[in-house]
Amino acid sequence: NELARNEDLATLIRTIPDYPTAGILFRDVSTLLLDGRGFRAAIDRMIATIDPVDIDLIAGIEARGFIVASAMSYALAKGKIMLRKPGKLPGNVVGMDYALEYGTDRLEMHVGAVSPGQKVLIVDDLIATGGTAQAGVALLRGQGALVLQARFLVDLPDLGGGDRLRAQGIETDALCS
Ligand code: AMP
Repeated sequence: NELARNEDLATLIRTIPDYPTAGILFRDVSTLLLDGRGFRAAIDRMIATIDPVDIDLIAGIEARGFIVASAMSYALAKGKIMLRKPGKLPGNVVGMDYALEYGTDRLEMHVGAVSPGQKVLIVDDLIATGGTAQAGVALLRGQGALVLQARFLVDLPDLGGGDRLRAQGIETDALCS
């Protein structure tokens, strides 16, 4: 079919210069989401790179990571954890501040969402510096989770995030760069 290769899926992700601030090349996955077959192919391809035996739960990062995590969770029939921006979760939370490519932010998760020893796959739309994903990893590991794998639609390898996760023992892969 016409979406036989990851490079073709990459063409469905558009780049918008100088968003949200000057100098940032924003990789906008909204155009991939508009393409139903393209999105399905992207999720199928990400799933093909993981071993479901190594996953008890999938942790998605708000907000675009939720879309990816939700599709993978449905396909694999695995539960999911929401790693959320501050103030969104109603129960008891633990939180972690982190530096972004553009600014700072904070992630929170529900205490009790994961049990010690559970194996978690962490998922987002994109990894740049890895600060966001590392905050999620720290929260999950702080609750006793084993974070063994990470998956992204896009990796910006020049920013080093993938290598930072690998240095923490997390097998990391992305559909395109
Ligand atoms: P980082 O923490 O530097 O790895 O940044 C990753 C997070 O910020 C992800 O949640 C992305 O959605 C978002 N992000 C960072 N840089 C970009 C970019 N160039 N294009 C689109 N999203 C980005």
